[in-house]
Amino acid sequence: MTIIDKSRPVMITGATGYVAGWIVTRLLEKGLTVHAAVRDIEDHEKLKYLDKLASELPGQIRYFKSDLLDEGSYAQAMDGCELVFHTASPFTVSVKDPQKQLVEPAVLGTRNVLLQANKTSSVKRVVLTSSVAAIYGDNVDVKKTASGKFTEDDWNTTSTLDHGAYSYSKVQAEREAWKISGDQDRWDLVVINPSLVIGPGINPNATSESFKLIRNFGDGTMRLGVPQFGIGVVDVRDVADAHLKAAFLPEAQGRHIVSGYNTDFPSMARPLVKKFGRAYPFPKMTSPKPLVWLVGPLLDKSLTRRMIRDNVGIPFVADNSKSIDQLGMTYRPLEESLVEFFQQLVDSGAFDKKK
Ligand code: NAP
Repeated sequence: MTIIDKSRPVMITGATGYVAGWIVTRLLEKGLTVHAAVRDIEDHEKLKYLDKLASELPGQIRYFKSDLLDEGSYAQAMDGCELVFHTASPFTVSVKDPQKQLVEPAVLGTRNVLLQANKTSSVKRVVLTSSVAAIYGDNVDVKKTASGKFTEDDWNTTSTLDHGAYSYSKVQAEREAWKISGDQDRWDLVVINPSLVIGPGINPNATSESFKLIRNFGDGTMRLGVPQFGIGVVDVRDVADAHLKAAFLPEAQGRHIVSGYNTDFPSMARPLVKKFGRAYPFPKMTSPKPLVWLVGPLLDKSLTRRMIRDNVGIPFVADNSKSIDQLGMTYRPLEESLVEFFQQLVDSGAFDKKK
């Protein structure tokens, strides 16, 4: 049982990120003081979205310069905080050196932030943004689960630097977090494991991989066809709510799959076609798996034959009942998240050149 004093500041790493934007919004709505750890406190273009929130909502923001790879750089931001949200971690699949660009910031960054929590006597709880990627590597892994569904008891044991490097970075980072938290008993660790996060961001030009995927539905990348790729999806505002529940519910504990829907790419395209018609080159058909296997890797270097074999045509099935029963989560309709996200991309000019 951990009770957080809401009159104390709370710290968040990666405050400029897509997911963090909505966590900060919810904190400011509650009138809290947010210690926002960011890489560049002079990047006004990036910070203007957070500044706008702070000017409109009851809470306050203070910025602190910190980098995941810069040991000790979270000390000032964490000072006096009982609650720490650790969201910062690179979310991209297009990397040349996965060890340097994904694993090191994820794992060393987690170590840096959590060892700082050990040194900061005010800290009582750390809420870590992990991912379902720390629970499973490929959809085919569901066959090895005890219940036929991915649950919080499952760990990704199949991703490597060469296969699913982002997922590998997330599972390594979460394991490191549990290890550091287990070596002490002053603060507790509560983990949120979201599936693919979608829905409008506070910054319409965010760089999160979420934006790229939904953009690809409408920019012609999938014009000829979309693979039957099973995936879990959740709205960014629901993910933020889950973080706040994990932070402030005294009895919150352990990992939480935060995923509204078990779905797949063709099902995600349908509400977009229904709402936006043929104004955008949405996928016209579901591509047969053998065709995806043959042509996919030629069109997209990040899509390997193993990835296609182990995910396409195999449903993603995760059990989100712990998030509902223990965090009290409700999930907004998938169509609403998809349509609002796509509309934000349209409004921000994401399709202006390719339409
Ligand atoms: P994002 O918008 O790219 O946010 C990543 C954040 O991490 C940014 O604020 C970025 O700072 C920060 N960061 C990256 N490298 C850093 C470094 N070396 N030092 C300090 N900060 C660094 O991505 P997101 O989608 O919001 O992801 C946030 C978290 O959610 C990540 O842990 C991700 O794994 C997790 N997650 C995301 C999804 C999803 O579908 N989006 C699903 C499950 C889990 P800059 O702004 O300076 O680059």
